[in-house]
Amino acid sequence: MTGPTSRPPRRSTLLRVTTVVAAAVPLCTAGWLGWQALDGSGPAGASASSNGTAQAGAQAATQSPATPGAPLTPPVQAAPPADGTPTGAPTATPAAPPSGTPTDPASVPAGGADLAGRTIVLDPGHNPGNVAHPTEINRQVDIGNARKECDTTGTETNAGYTEADYTLDVSRRARALLTARGAKVVLVQDGDRPWGPCIDERARAGADAHADVALSVHGDGGPASGSGFHVIMPAKVVAGKADNSAIVEPSHRLGLLLRERFQAATGEPYADYTAKDGLDVRSDLGGLNLSAVPKVFIECGNMRNSADARRMTDPQWRQQAAQGIADALTAFLTTR
Ligand SMILES: [Zn+2]
Repeated sequence: MTGPTSRPPRRSTLLRVTTVVAAAVPLCTAGWLGWQALDGSGPAGASASSNGTAQAGAQAATQSPATPGAPLTPPVQAAPPADGTPTGAPTATPAAPPSGTPTDPASVPAGGADLAGRTIVLDPGHNPGNVAHPTEINRQVDIGNARKECDTTGTETNAGYTEADYTLDVSRRARALLTARGAKVVLVQDGDRPWGPCIDERARAGADAHADVALSVHGDGGPASGSGFHVIMPAKVVAGKADNSAIVEPSHRLGLLLRERFQAATGEPYADYTAKDGLDVRSDLGGLNLSAVPKVFIECGNMRNSADARRMTDPQWRQQAAQGIADALTAFLTTR
Protein backbone atom coordinates (compact mmCIF):
# COMPACT_ATOMS: atom_id res chain seq x y z
CA MET A 1 0.00 0.00 0.00
CA THR A 2 1.33 3.34 -0.90
CA GLY A 3 1.99 6.06 1.61
CA PRO A 4 0.47 9.27 0.27
CA THR A 5 2.52 11.60 2.36
CA SER A 6 5.67 9.74 3.15
CA ARG A 7 8.92 11.55 2.70
CA PRO A 8 12.39 10.12 2.89
CA PRO A 9 13.74 10.27 6.42
CA ARG A 10 15.64 13.45 7.10
CA ARG A 11 18.83 11.71 8.04
CA SER A 12 20.77 14.91 8.21
CA THR A 13 19.16 15.69 11.52
CA LEU A 14 19.49 12.25 12.99
CA LEU A 15 22.70 12.43 14.92
CA ARG A 16 22.22 15.93 16.16
CA VAL A 17 18.76 15.16 17.39
CA THR A 18 19.25 11.84 19.06
CA THR A 19 22.13 12.86 21.25
CA VAL A 20 20.19 15.72 22.72
CA VAL A 21 16.67 14.46 23.00
CA ALA A 22 17.32 11.03 24.41
CA ALA A 23 16.85 12.32 27.91
CA ALA A 24 14.30 14.96 27.14
CA VAL A 25 10.69 15.27 28.16
CA PRO A 26 8.98 11.99 27.42
CA LEU A 27 5.65 13.16 26.11
CA CYS A 28 5.55 14.63 22.68
CA THR A 29 2.78 16.90 23.77
CA ALA A 30 5.14 18.55 26.18
CA GLY A 31 7.16 19.87 23.31
CA TRP A 32 10.38 19.26 21.54
CA LEU A 33 12.09 22.55 21.95
CA GLY A 34 15.59 21.16 22.28
CA TRP A 35 15.31 19.82 18.80
CA GLN A 36 14.14 23.00 17.20
CA ALA A 37 16.72 25.04 19.02
CA LEU A 38 19.38 22.93 17.40
CA ASP A 39 17.73 22.52 14.10
CA GLY A 40 17.20 26.06 13.00
CA SER A 41 18.91 25.50 9.73
CA GLY A 42 15.96 25.01 7.50
CA PRO A 43 12.33 24.12 7.11
CA ALA A 44 11.40 20.53 7.41
CA GLY A 45 8.43 20.54 5.18
CA ALA A 46 7.24 24.06 4.59
CA SER A 47 5.47 23.13 1.47
CA ALA A 48 2.30 24.89 2.40
CA SER A 49 1.69 28.12 0.66
CA SER A 50 -1.43 29.57 2.10
CA ASN A 51 -1.81 32.41 4.52
CA GLY A 52 -2.52 30.21 7.47
CA THR A 53 -6.23 30.68 7.39
CA ALA A 54 -7.02 27.77 5.17
CA GLN A 55 -9.21 25.32 6.96
CA ALA A 56 -9.44 21.74 6.02
CA GLY A 57 -13.08 22.07 5.14
CA ALA A 58 -12.15 22.30 1.53
CA GLN A 59 -10.95 18.74 1.78
CA ALA A 60 -14.03 17.49 3.47
CA ALA A 61 -16.29 15.07 1.80
CA THR A 62 -19.58 16.45 0.64
CA GLN A 63 -21.50 13.27 0.25
CA SER A 64 -25.19 13.59 0.70
CA PRO A 65 -26.95 11.15 2.95
CA ALA A 66 -28.20 8.63 0.47
CA THR A 67 -30.00 6.39 2.90
CA PRO A 68 -31.37 8.44 5.75
CA GLY A 69 -33.44 5.56 7.02
CA ALA A 70 -30.64 3.08 7.08
CA PRO A 71 -30.31 1.19 10.36
CA LEU A 72 -27.40 2.16 12.50
CA THR A 73 -25.65 -1.11 12.84
CA PRO A 74 -22.52 -1.65 14.85
CA PRO A 75 -19.37 -1.64 12.76
CA VAL A 76 -17.96 -4.84 11.44
CA GLN A 77 -14.48 -5.50 12.69
CA ALA A 78 -11.78 -5.01 10.16
CA ALA A 79 -10.58 -8.54 9.60
CA PRO A 80 -12.14 -9.91 6.45
CA PRO A 81 -13.07 -13.58 6.49
CA ALA A 82 -10.23 -15.35 4.85
CA ASP A 83 -12.33 -18.24 3.68
CA GLY A 84 -15.30 -16.25 2.49
CA THR A 85 -17.49 -17.42 5.32
CA PRO A 86 -20.51 -15.19 5.77
CA THR A 87 -20.26 -12.97 8.82
CA GLY A 88 -23.87 -13.08 9.77
CA ALA A 89 -25.07 -10.27 7.56
CA PRO A 90 -28.50 -10.70 5.97
CA THR A 91 -28.31 -12.64 2.77
CA ALA A 92 -29.88 -9.80 0.84
CA THR A 93 -26.98 -7.53 1.65
CA PRO A 94 -24.68 -7.01 -1.29
CA ALA A 95 -21.39 -8.77 -0.80
CA ALA A 96 -19.39 -5.66 -1.54
CA PRO A 97 -19.93 -1.98 -2.13
CA PRO A 98 -19.64 -0.58 -5.62
CA SER A 99 -16.20 -0.26 -7.03
CA GLY A 100 -14.43 3.04 -6.90
CA THR A 101 -14.26 3.46 -3.16
CA PRO A 102 -10.85 4.66 -2.08
CA THR A 103 -10.37 1.99 0.54
CA ASP A 104 -10.31 -1.71 0.87
CA PRO A 105 -13.93 -2.73 0.30
CA ALA A 106 -13.66 -5.39 2.96
CA SER A 107 -13.14 -2.69 5.55
CA VAL A 108 -16.38 -0.91 4.79
CA PRO A 109 -19.43 -2.13 6.64
CA ALA A 110 -22.18 -3.53 4.48
CA GLY A 111 -24.21 -0.68 3.10
CA GLY A 112 -21.30 1.70 3.46
CA ALA A 113 -23.38 4.62 4.69
CA ASP A 114 -23.58 4.10 8.43
CA LEU A 115 -22.18 7.55 9.03
CA ALA A 116 -24.27 9.53 6.58
CA GLY A 117 -25.04 12.92 8.02
CA ARG A 118 -22.34 12.72 10.69
CA THR A 119 -19.35 15.05 10.89
CA ILE A 120 -15.99 14.02 12.32
CA VAL A 121 -13.00 16.26 13.03
CA LEU A 122 -9.58 14.62 12.81
CA ASP A 123 -6.72 16.54 14.38
CA PRO A 124 -3.32 15.46 13.06
CA GLY A 125 -0.96 16.42 15.86
CA HIS A 126 1.67 19.09 15.13
CA ASN A 127 2.57 20.21 11.61
CA PRO A 128 5.57 19.30 9.46
CA GLY A 129 6.28 23.03 9.10
CA ASN A 130 6.30 23.85 12.81
CA VAL A 131 10.04 23.35 13.10
CA ALA A 132 10.59 26.32 10.81
CA HIS A 133 8.24 28.61 12.73
CA PRO A 134 9.46 28.70 16.34
CA THR A 135 8.21 32.21 17.03
CA GLU A 136 4.70 31.43 15.92
CA ILE A 137 4.36 28.10 17.67
CA ASN A 138 5.99 29.24 20.91
CA ARG A 139 3.41 31.98 21.41
CA GLN A 140 1.47 31.30 24.59
CA VAL A 141 -2.24 30.58 24.34
CA ASP A 142 -4.91 30.30 27.01
CA ILE A 143 -6.15 26.75 27.70
CA GLY A 144 -8.40 27.69 30.59
CA ASN A 145 -6.38 26.42 33.54
CA ALA A 146 -2.98 27.48 32.20
CA ARG A 147 -1.14 29.06 29.34
CA LYS A 148 0.76 26.89 26.94
CA GLU A 149 2.68 27.00 23.69
CA CYS A 150 0.52 27.47 20.60
CA ASP A 151 1.84 24.19 19.21
CA THR A 152 4.95 22.03 19.35
CA THR A 153 7.14 20.32 16.81
CA GLY A 154 6.40 16.81 17.97
CA THR A 155 8.84 13.96 18.11
CA GLU A 156 10.38 11.69 15.48
CA THR A 157 11.95 8.27 15.09
CA ASN A 158 15.68 7.82 15.36
CA ALA A 159 15.74 7.56 11.59
CA GLY A 160 14.07 10.93 11.22
CA TYR A 161 10.47 10.04 10.41
CA THR A 162 8.59 12.84 12.05
CA GLU A 163 5.51 12.61 14.22
CA ALA A 164 3.90 15.36 12.14
CA ASP A 165 4.27 13.30 8.97
CA TYR A 166 2.94 10.24 10.79
CA THR A 167 -0.12 11.98 12.18
CA LEU A 168 -1.06 13.54 8.86
CA ASP A 169 -0.69 10.26 6.99
CA VAL A 170 -2.78 8.28 9.47
CA SER A 171 -5.42 11.00 9.60
CA ARG A 172 -5.73 11.01 5.83
CA ARG A 173 -6.07 7.25 5.79
CA ALA A 174 -8.75 7.41 8.48
CA ARG A 175 -10.53 10.14 6.54
CA ALA A 176 -10.69 7.90 3.48
CA LEU A 177 -12.19 5.06 5.50
CA LEU A 178 -14.74 7.26 7.24
CA THR A 179 -15.71 9.12 4.09
CA ALA A 180 -16.39 5.77 2.46
CA ARG A 181 -18.81 5.08 5.31
CA GLY A 182 -20.68 8.28 4.55
CA ALA A 183 -19.22 10.69 7.10
CA LYS A 184 -18.12 14.23 6.46
CA VAL A 185 -14.55 14.43 7.73
CA VAL A 186 -12.69 17.66 8.49
CA LEU A 187 -8.95 17.77 9.17
CA VAL A 188 -7.76 20.69 11.27
CA GLN A 189 -4.68 20.83 9.06
CA ASP A 190 -4.11 18.91 5.88
CA GLY A 191 -0.59 19.97 4.93
CA ASP A 192 -2.21 23.14 3.69
CA ARG A 193 -0.73 25.67 6.05
CA PRO A 194 2.86 26.51 7.01
CA TRP A 195 2.51 25.86 10.75
CA GLY A 196 -0.01 25.06 13.45
CA PRO A 197 -2.82 25.63 14.01
CA CYS A 198 -2.52 26.53 17.68
CA ILE A 199 -3.96 24.09 20.19
CA ASP A 200 -6.85 26.38 21.05
CA GLU A 201 -7.83 26.57 17.40
CA ARG A 202 -7.52 22.79 17.14
CA ALA A 203 -9.87 22.53 20.09
CA ARG A 204 -12.38 24.87 18.50
CA ALA A 205 -12.40 22.94 15.25
CA GLY A 206 -15.02 20.53 16.51
CA ALA A 207 -17.51 23.26 17.28
CA ASP A 208 -16.59 25.22 14.15
CA ALA A 209 -17.38 22.19 12.01
CA HIS A 210 -20.54 21.35 14.00
CA ALA A 211 -18.92 17.98 14.45
CA ASP A 212 -20.33 15.03 16.36
CA VAL A 213 -16.90 13.96 17.58
CA ALA A 214 -13.20 14.78 17.27
CA LEU A 215 -9.99 12.80 17.64
CA SER A 216 -6.37 13.91 17.78
CA VAL A 217 -3.67 11.62 16.36
CA HIS A 218 -0.17 11.56 17.86
CA GLY A 219 2.93 9.45 18.23
CA ASP A 220 4.74 9.64 21.52
CA GLY A 221 8.32 10.50 22.35
CA GLY A 222 8.83 8.37 25.44
CA PRO A 223 11.87 6.56 26.80
CA ALA A 224 13.48 4.27 24.24
CA SER A 225 12.86 1.23 26.41
CA GLY A 226 9.09 1.78 26.48
CA SER A 227 6.58 0.76 23.86
CA GLY A 228 2.87 0.54 23.21
CA PHE A 229 -0.05 2.88 22.64
CA HIS A 230 -2.31 4.83 24.95
CA VAL A 231 -5.45 6.90 24.74
CA ILE A 232 -5.74 10.25 26.52
CA MET A 233 -9.18 11.30 27.72
CA PRO A 234 -10.21 14.66 29.15
CA ALA A 235 -10.35 15.35 32.85
CA LYS A 236 -13.14 17.71 33.80
CA VAL A 237 -11.75 21.22 33.57
CA VAL A 238 -13.82 24.22 34.59
CA ALA A 239 -11.40 27.12 34.74
CA GLY A 240 -11.14 30.41 32.93
CA LYS A 241 -12.57 29.99 29.47
CA ALA A 242 -12.55 26.19 29.73
CA ASP A 243 -15.60 24.20 30.65
CA ASN A 244 -15.55 20.73 29.16
CA SER A 245 -18.05 19.22 31.62
CA ALA A 246 -20.40 18.17 28.87
CA ILE A 247 -17.83 16.17 26.93
CA VAL A 248 -16.15 14.21 29.71
CA GLU A 249 -18.52 11.25 29.78
CA PRO A 250 -18.93 10.76 26.02
CA SER A 251 -15.20 11.28 25.56
CA HIS A 252 -14.51 8.47 28.00
CA ARG A 253 -16.88 6.23 26.09
CA LEU A 254 -14.96 7.08 22.94
CA GLY A 255 -11.68 6.44 24.72
CA LEU A 256 -12.67 2.93 25.71
CA LEU A 257 -13.86 2.16 22.20
CA LEU A 258 -10.65 3.53 20.74
CA ARG A 259 -8.49 1.44 23.04
CA GLU A 260 -10.40 -1.67 22.00
CA ARG A 261 -10.58 -1.04 18.28
CA PHE A 262 -7.05 0.28 17.89
CA GLN A 263 -5.59 -2.76 19.54
CA ALA A 264 -7.82 -5.08 17.53
CA ALA A 265 -6.70 -3.48 14.27
CA THR A 266 -2.99 -3.16 15.00
CA GLY A 267 -2.11 -5.72 17.67
CA GLU A 268 -0.20 -2.95 19.44
CA PRO A 269 0.05 -3.55 23.21
CA TYR A 270 -0.91 -0.99 25.82
CA ALA A 271 1.92 1.37 26.70
CA ASP A 272 4.26 -0.11 29.29
CA TYR A 273 5.98 3.15 30.21
CA THR A 274 3.09 5.55 30.85
CA ALA A 275 -0.65 5.64 31.45
CA LYS A 276 -2.38 2.56 32.87
CA ASP A 277 -3.99 -0.18 30.84
CA GLY A 278 -3.67 2.00 27.79
CA LEU A 279 -5.67 4.87 29.26
CA ASP A 280 -4.75 8.24 30.67
CA VAL A 281 -6.82 11.20 31.84
CA ARG A 282 -5.28 14.65 31.60
CA SER A 283 -6.16 18.23 32.36
CA ASP A 284 -3.16 19.90 30.73
CA LEU A 285 -4.08 19.55 27.07
CA GLY A 286 -5.74 22.52 25.45
CA GLY A 287 -7.20 20.31 22.78
CA LEU A 288 -9.27 18.54 25.45
CA ASN A 289 -9.85 21.38 27.90
CA LEU A 290 -11.38 23.62 25.26
CA SER A 291 -13.27 21.13 23.12
CA ALA A 292 -17.02 21.48 22.88
CA VAL A 293 -17.45 18.09 21.25
CA PRO A 294 -16.38 14.67 22.54
CA LYS A 295 -12.67 14.29 21.88
CA VAL A 296 -9.73 12.10 22.79
CA PHE A 297 -6.06 11.87 21.84
CA ILE A 298 -4.29 8.70 20.83
CA GLU A 299 -0.55 8.22 21.17
CA CYS A 300 -0.30 5.42 18.63
CA GLY A 301 3.10 4.21 19.77
CA ASN A 302 6.44 5.42 21.04
CA MET A 303 8.47 6.75 18.14
CA ARG A 304 11.66 6.63 20.22
CA ASN A 305 11.30 2.85 20.65
CA SER A 306 12.82 0.81 17.86
CA ALA A 307 10.00 -1.73 17.56
CA ASP A 308 7.27 0.89 17.60
CA ALA A 309 9.25 3.05 15.19
CA ARG A 310 9.52 0.15 12.78
CA ARG A 311 5.77 -0.35 12.87
CA MET A 312 4.88 3.31 12.62
CA THR A 313 7.18 3.76 9.64
CA ASP A 314 5.42 0.94 7.79
CA PRO A 315 2.56 2.19 5.57
CA GLN A 316 0.69 -1.08 6.05
CA TRP A 317 0.77 -0.67 9.81
CA ARG A 318 -0.38 2.92 9.46
CA GLN A 319 -3.35 1.67 7.47
CA GLN A 320 -4.18 -0.67 10.35
CA ALA A 321 -3.87 2.25 12.75
CA ALA A 322 -6.25 4.27 10.62
CA GLN A 323 -8.59 1.30 10.53
CA GLY A 324 -8.67 1.10 14.29
CA ILE A 325 -9.34 4.81 14.59
CA ALA A 326 -12.08 4.72 11.97
CA ASP A 327 -13.68 1.68 13.58
CA ALA A 328 -13.71 3.35 16.99
CA LEU A 329 -15.31 6.52 15.64
CA THR A 330 -17.84 4.45 13.74
CA ALA A 331 -18.70 2.50 16.85
CA PHE A 332 -18.99 5.70 18.87
CA LEU A 333 -21.42 7.22 16.39
CA THR A 334 -23.55 4.12 15.79
CA THR A 335 -23.90 2.65 19.27
CA ARG A 336 -24.97 3.92 22.63
ZN1 LIG B 1 2.28 14.73 19.64
